[in-house]
Amino acid sequence: RASDRQALLAVLEEACRFYSGQLHQSEKGRVAREYIRSRGLTPDVVESQRLGYAPDGWDALLSHLRRRGISQDLGVQAGLLVASSKGTFYDRFRHRLIFPITNPEGKVVAFGGRSLDGSEPKYLNSPETPVYHKGRMLYQLGAARQACREVRQVLLVEGYMDLLAFHVHGFFRVVATLGTALTVQQVRLLRRMADEVVLVYDGDEAGRRAMLRALPLFAQEGLAASCLVLPDGMDPDDYLSRYGLNAFLGLLEKRRELVRFAVEHHLSTWNGTSQDKARVLRDAQELVRTIADPVMRQEVVAQLADSLSLPQQVVRQQLFGYPRTR
Ligand code: ATP
Ligand code: MN
Ligand code: MN
Ligand code: MN
Repeated sequence: RASDRQALLAVLEEACRFYSGQLHQSEKGRVAREYIRSRGLTPDVVESQRLGYAPDGWDALLSHLRRRGISQDLGVQAGLLVASSKGTFYDRFRHRLIFPITNPEGKVVAFGGRSLDGSEPKYLNSPETPVYHKGRMLYQLGAARQACREVRQVLLVEGYMDLLAFHVHGFFRVVATLGTALTVQQVRLLRRMADEVVLVYDGDEAGRRAMLRALPLFAQEGLAASCLVLPDGMDPDDYLSRYGLNAFLGLLEKRRELVRFAVEHHLSTWNGTSQDKARVLRDAQELVRTIADPVMRQEVVAQLADSLSLPQQVVRQQLFGYPRTR
């Protein structure tokens, strides 16, 4: 119901104000303020993103909401409080740096919290609520949409810090999945605002796997996708802090189509023997069949033929000439 929605948004806004106030409060927020500085986040970004601090202890927000006459039930529904088995309530976010997550209208709908002392989990996020469906939203979608009016290309990164590092450098055509697997709903949101998505996931095995998994979604939705692989296990935040935006934009020029990246991945699994060629082609079959564009298909066939030293005709036959079950 609309009234429930309004009530939830009001509690979330109140919590956002509370966390932000705690960050700037002299004693309690000091650790978080120092952490913010150590991560290179600027006062501008802290302000515009309304970053905050959830104090240590079990009832900081709980007491604040009580003082405001806000019911604990509403706090639970908003994902801010947790109900214990004993029928009591406590704060979900404790001693964490708080990242508000807003919808494209700018309303706070959820929070992410980063631990400040190495405690697990590193990031804690709001649960799904009536106003927050994580698979149907993207972090900083509103800002990116604005920026994409000029250049219809958007970057896709994994994390909060990756995204905010771009903001620190004055670059806004970027959204984040917040570490979860990309969904078809998210790809549709991206398709409405951009003609090309550039995946800039972490330069590690998990990041590469996630990029490969995203490919069929882009193919299926007909949205051009390319990718960058960052060096030495770096993520975008690491890269920007170390080399700056200009160096990054240089890398961006050298992005590769996601399909090519995937083909090269399959080729890298070839053990060099003749017998293994058919296996590589079988593994690549699914991928190649998702390519709708005939020119791109032909290029991929040529690349496979060339790398495996096979006639294109043989590759084509292996990929398309037999039933899938073979
Ligand atoms: P940092 O730079 O602060 O260490 P990161 O963004 O590089 O963080 P990653 O481990 O690369 O952290 O994870 C990417 C994103 O995945 C995070 O920004 C966060 O949104 C999400 N994430 C990571 N760990 C968790 C977790 N334990 N629970 C929920 N979400 C997580
Ligand atoms: Mn990672
Ligand atoms: Mn990372
Ligand atoms: Mn990082």
